[in-house]
Amino acid sequence: MNKEKIWLSSPHMGGNELKYIHEAFEQNWIAPLGPNVNGFEQDLKDYLFSDSPSFGKEDKHSGTPSFRRGQGEVKTEAGEVAVLSSGTAALHLALILAGVERGDEVLCQSLTFAASANPIVYLGATPVFVDSEEDTLNISPFYLEEAIKDRIQKGKKPKAIIAVHLYGMPYKVEEVQEIASRYDVTVIEDSAEALGSSYKGQKCGTFGDFAILSFNGNKIITTSGGGALITRSIGLKEKAVFLATQARDQAPHYQHSEIGYNYRLSNIAAGIGRGQMQVLDTHVAKRREMNMFYRELFGRVKEVKVLNEPENTYFCNHWLTVIKAEDNRAFDTDALRMHLEKENIESRPLWKPMHMQPVFKDAPFYGNGVAEKAFENGLCLPSGSNLGEEEKNRISTAIKNFLQ
Ligand SMILES: *Cc1c(COP(=O)(O)O)cnc(C)c1O
Repeated sequence: MNKEKIWLSSPHMGGNELKYIHEAFEQNWIAPLGPNVNGFEQDLKDYLFSDSPSFGKEDKHSGTPSFRRGQGEVKTEAGEVAVLSSGTAALHLALILAGVERGDEVLCQSLTFAASANPIVYLGATPVFVDSEEDTLNISPFYLEEAIKDRIQKGKKPKAIIAVHLYGMPYKVEEVQEIASRYDVTVIEDSAEALGSSYKGQKCGTFGDFAILSFNGNKIITTSGGGALITRSIGLKEKAVFLATQARDQAPHYQHSEIGYNYRLSNIAAGIGRGQMQVLDTHVAKRREMNMFYRELFGRVKEVKVLNEPENTYFCNHWLTVIKAEDNRAFDTDALRMHLEKENIESRPLWKPMHMQPVFKDAPFYGNGVAEKAFENGLCLPSGSNLGEEEKNRISTAIKNFLQ
C-alpha cells in the first residue's frame, strides 16, 4: 500500500502567488520591504476591518465588543497591520509595546501552542497559565479573574493577557474583555489560527489591544513563514515596524537608542500572502465543509463530540476540526490516531497544555482540569482546504472501519 499521505493541514496555493513573486523579481524588490509588503498589509487591513459592525464606532448594540477604550482615548477608525517574519515575532513585539518588562507577569491560556507563551520568557517575564472553559476550549473567564485577583493579592498585577482563538474558535470575547477592562489589563489576542473567524460579525484579530496572525506553512493561509501584528493606531504600527527593523533612529548614519529586532516580512513572502488573500474565503468555506463532513461521520457516535460553535454569534474558520471523547474508556482517540496512521492519514492530539510542559513546570497555573482533559481525550483530524473527494473517501472509510 503506497497511498499518499493525508496531512492535517498543508499549504494550498491559490494560483496568483507566483505573479506577485515575479513582479518582485522584475522590479528587484528582493528585500524585507517593497510593494508586496505594503500590498499584503493593505489586503489584511481591508479584510479585517471592512465589515466589522462596531469597530471604531459607537457601539450600536450594547455589549458589542470592540477594541477596549479607556476614558478619553482616541477612537481609531480601523486598526493597523504590520507584517512580520512570524507570529511569534508579532507576539514578542506586542508584549514589548504592552510594556512588559523583566520580572513582570503575563497571563496566558494554557491550552495553546508553545509559541503563545515563549515570547513572555524572551522578555524575562513570567507566564501565569489559565485553564480553558468547556464551550470553546479557550481561556476560562472564571479562572482568568481568579488568577488576576490572586496575583494582585500576592503583590503583582499581571501586565497582559494572552487569549487564543484555538483551532479558529473565537474565545469568549465579551467576558474576557469585560474582565480586562475592569482590572485594566492589556489584551493580546492570539489569532494565529483564526484568520477568517469572527464573533458577532466582527473579525478575530480586531478585539484585543493588540492581535497577532500567523502565516506558517500549516495555517489557514501561508507565506511559507510569516506573521502580522495588528495594533489600534498608526503610531503603534510605526513603533512596531521601527523595532522590527533594528530600531534605527532618524539620522543619516546608523544610530540606535533602543534594542531592535530583524522581524520584518520579506517582499517575496508577502507576495505569496497577496495571492493567498484572494482565496482566503474559499479556504475558510472548505475547512468548514470538512468540519461538516466530520459532524456527519460522527453524528451517531454518542461517545464523541465534534467541537462546534456554542452559539450562532460565533463563526469558526475550523482551521482544524477537533473531536473530543467524553472519556477515553468509552472512546479511545489515541487508538483512532494509530488506526489512521496505518492508513497514512495524519491526526494529532490537541496542544499539550503549557502548565504540563517540562519547560514551564514552575509557572503558576489557575484551573480545574479542563485543558488536561481536552488534551487526554481530544484529537485533531485532517482539515486542509485542499482535501478532495478521494481523500475524504479514504478518511471516511478508515474512520468507519475503526468505529465498527
Ligand atoms: C502558529 C501559532 C503561533 C506562532 O506563529 P508562527 O508564525 O509559527 O511563529 C502562535 N500561536 C498559536 C496559537 C499558533 O498556532
